[in-house]
Amino acid sequence: MRTVNFITIHCTGGPQNQSLESIRAHWRSLGWRNVGYHRLVAADGTVHELAPYSAITNGVAGHNSNNIHLSYIGGIDSRGHVADTRTSAQRAALERLVYEVHRLYPAAVIQGHRDFSPDKNRNGIIEPSEWTKACPSFSVKAWLQEIGFKSANPQKRTFTSRANVNLRDGAGTTFRILATVPAGERLQFIAEVPGWLFLQLANGTTGWMASQLMQEVMP
Ligand SMILES: [Zn+2]
Repeated sequence: MRTVNFITIHCTGGPQNQSLESIRAHWRSLGWRNVGYHRLVAADGTVHELAPYSAITNGVAGHNSNNIHLSYIGGIDSRGHVADTRTSAQRAALERLVYEVHRLYPAAVIQGHRDFSPDKNRNGIIEPSEWTKACPSFSVKAWLQEIGFKSANPQKRTFTSRANVNLRDGAGTTFRILATVPAGERLQFIAEVPGWLFLQLANGTTGWMASQLMQEVMP
């Protein structure tokens, strides 16, 4: 099984009544051999299974080998503006899909396509002006909070800091520092990508810390 570090949510960036065939035709016109997403949710909540999770699809340029892509049809309103057009059936189906994939890959980070946008002004925050795409036309972080998403992560792992370590807003040293964690502090594991751990402090704050500065506490 391939390593999956991300579960990414998308919209098609089209009207709600787009047909699956027109979407496939668009991908063919781009010369893609793979489909754009693993699952695509229609306005009535129907889930189209376009590729097995084991396959690689074309969701985010440069971030596909370790990614699972879930999308809904829509994302722009009748005037062509970016809008969260999800129907209640689409919201429910997306929620089921997120849990389904999360159970398979409990350590994967769940985020929107736009959250992969480069932090151009390097202030650690991906701002609307920096979104390479508005996809999926809503904040995945806020939506997960809204639905009370609970990690089913069975790996109750704890890490401790070897020194005073910065807790950052993203997996890289260019991201904003949220807190400096004193040596010896214990943090709960949530997820990881190569070189970085996504951890939670006792006060609930979450962020990224460099793996090499952390040590796992053995139970
Ligand atoms: Zn997208």
